Amino acid sequence: MDFATRMSRLGTETAFEVLARAQALERKGRDVVHLEIGEPDFDTPKHIREAAVAALDEGWTHYGPSAGLAEMREAVAQDVARSRGIPVSADEVVVTPGGKPILFFTLLALLDEGDEAIYPNPGFPIYESVIRFAGAKPVPLRLREENHWAFDPDELDRLITTRTKVLVLNSPHNPTGGVLSTAALDRVAQAARRHSFSILSDEIYSRLVYEGEARSLASYPGLKERTIILDGFSKTYAMTGWRLGYGVMDTALAKHVARLMTNCNSCTATFVQRAGIAALQGPQAPVEAMVEEFRVRRDRLVAGLNDLPGVRCRMPGGAFYAFPNITGTGMTSQQMADGLLDEAGVAVLSGTAFGSFGEGYLRLSCANSLAKLETALERMHEFLSVRVRA
Ligand code: PLP
Repeated sequence: MDFATRMSRLGTETAFEVLARAQALERKGRDVVHLEIGEPDFDTPKHIREAAVAALDEGWTHYGPSAGLAEMREAVAQDVARSRGIPVSADEVVVTPGGKPILFFTLLALLDEGDEAIYPNPGFPIYESVIRFAGAKPVPLRLREENHWAFDPDELDRLITTRTKVLVLNSPHNPTGGVLSTAALDRVAQAARRHSFSILSDEIYSRLVYEGEARSLASYPGLKERTIILDGFSKTYAMTGWRLGYGVMDTALAKHVARLMTNCNSCTATFVQRAGIAALQGPQAPVEAMVEEFRVRRDRLVAGLNDLPGVRCRMPGGAFYAFPNITGTGMTSQQMADGLLDEAGVAVLSGTAFGSFGEGYLRLSCANSLAKLETALERMHEFLSVRVRA
């Protein structure tokens, strides 16, 4: 077969490859602690599961509108309005199978060949992949450990050109756990007012914040019209496999994104959307309990990492990842990630899975029990103590 050249521009997500390698080792009888995958290890709360079962019994098994069920769009609009403190109407909401399609569809709808899109690096690998796929130029914005994993605002100013069409932000951030401060967002707002680019604000971890809150750029005066909020149910409600997410955007863009939905998915599963309404409008105690558990694990994992020879780790303010600096071990990120999996039975991701500026780091997910985290830390200690002199 002769494949289209555009396919050579499409990247992938290493997490799924590492998971497959770890599972292959397990099939050979090896014990592996999984810290590679970015999904909550909790079950979807019971009332949400029950709402889906009831929806199936009630006959929510047919096609629905491409942009989402009217009641679902309204529920999302109310939730985003309340959480971000901005007015949001249902026709600004498009419901999709997961948050990822919002990335794919909005970037396809906004980027022309020759346009530039600035994205965080290290960052979620799908940003660069989709920017390239759309034919635009990906422009990495380096996130810096010494800036609490924010970017240098002067550097952002230098990267903006007349061709800059989109700026991608992600806060709380995957993989670093960084949460953009009000000062950093103020600088983005200033730059956005001087130029005319759109902002794709990936807020998929918006509820997973441990100190203070993660503010949305959409809440800045005059910026809502140019900001696309991406959020969803995967992380907040432990619903990764359900595939349910949404975008909040200008109504003209929403129409394009709905048309891309018509061409691609037709609609998001209707019984899943009914479960989503139950998630938004039902009790939030399960979310709060999950965040508390993640906090306990984060504290233990980061303390343990800081006790390892050659490793230091900042306390992440949000999401459920730790992104330790491993330069003191003398290994590259890939060498250490491979060694940990093959020799110590700990599956982690190399920082380079999140872009070139991830060299010198690893990403570990807190989405495993405290007992498993302890085992992973013990194994990492053993692995490093024979390689790194204290
Ligand atoms: N954005 C970020 C930063 C993510 O880490 C993820 C998932 O890992 C997504 C978006 C997409 O999540 P989903 O498509 O499951 O809603």
